Amino acid sequence: MTAKILVLPGDGIGPEITAQAEKVLEVLRAKYKFDVEWTHGLLGGAAYDATGEPLPAATLEAARKSDAVLLAAVGGPKYDTAPRDKRPERGLLGIRAGMGLYANLRPAILYPELAAASSLKPELVADLDVLIVRELTGGIYFGQPRGIEVRDGVRVGINTEVYSEPEIERIARTAFDAAQLRGKRLCSVDKANVLESSELWRETVIRVGRDYPDVQLTHQYVDNAAMQLVRAPKQFDVIVTSNLFGDILSDIAAQLTGSIGMLPSASLNERGQGLYEPIHGSAPDIAGKGVANPLAMILSLAMLLRYSLKRGDLADKVQKAVRHVLADGLRTADIARSGEKTVGTLEMGEAVVGRL
Ligand code: NAD
Repeated sequence: MTAKILVLPGDGIGPEITAQAEKVLEVLRAKYKFDVEWTHGLLGGAAYDATGEPLPAATLEAARKSDAVLLAAVGGPKYDTAPRDKRPERGLLGIRAGMGLYANLRPAILYPELAAASSLKPELVADLDVLIVRELTGGIYFGQPRGIEVRDGVRVGINTEVYSEPEIERIARTAFDAAQLRGKRLCSVDKANVLESSELWRETVIRVGRDYPDVQLTHQYVDNAAMQLVRAPKQFDVIVTSNLFGDILSDIAAQLTGSIGMLPSASLNERGQGLYEPIHGSAPDIAGKGVANPLAMILSLAMLLRYSLKRGDLADKVQKAVRHVLADGLRTADIARSGEKTVGTLEMGEAVVGRL
């Protein structure tokens, strides 16, 4: 069956880095006989300019009909004065909600050639490859009751951590499935020594784990996990955790790699569809200059191939090509050390294509 991808270039550097990812798709189609077709859609500021809406109905419909969506980034200072409900970020939140994306997968990979970019010692992080699976639609960010109210004459702020068993089971299965595609080790992070919601989390993850005897399951409390991530991050393969803990731990893990232009992400729904995007924004400060790093975008495409299209073989080829290009010494400005020669977006994209 022909794989169908919706491509959303978005704003800022989006179109520049998207063009490089599309060249990679072309090579996969031509050289590896990959049966794929893709169409373009509008999201964010570009959509607002063209239609008056940051998420046109046609974009959401096209997203729902695709096997996967590849998004660059949205936003920019031009839209700071737009009505709040028309801002580019609303488009992003809208498409995430509209596709029912409950699992956020954030790999933190540090290629040995870039180990000096990390804030940790190179020997602690060279070859780091951790995947954080964060629950995205539940927990304390959505739980009721919430609000600020007056109790006995004092103002109190209230939020509630709520997780149902099906919600935990669903994210646990996603994480076990992901672990099976990688190193087959899963660490579930919770605060089960203090929180009842975590107690249920741990019980449920253990129960689901019985269906995955090939995956080694361990547990850490979140305070320890945060410490371990900066002490010895290479001990982890896949981490699964709640919305709140995942928000924090995934940013710690991203920082270990030291380079925002290298990190992809995926958000998945129950039908296996996904939205794939770099973790960086639209970088308006460098938009149009031809210097943006396209590798996070190309690696987002690799995740799309692996998780939504089940083409791990092609994903491996793309990741290997990126690795080769870095080993060849190519650097965009964001990952270059001072004095190192740099290349632009186009040259980096073409080098990956060349290696493929
Ligand atoms: P940003 O990630 O766009 O940029 C932060 C810094 O990193 C900038 O100096 C930028 O030049 C650099 N950078 C980012 N991506 C790069 C790349 N691929 N290559 C080289 N350098 C890169 O974050 P910001 O400046 O805080 O936000 C800019 C806009 O992007 C805002 O409108 C914000 O709302 C939006 N944003 C969107 C997303 C998204 O679409 N998912 C995420 C974050 C921010």
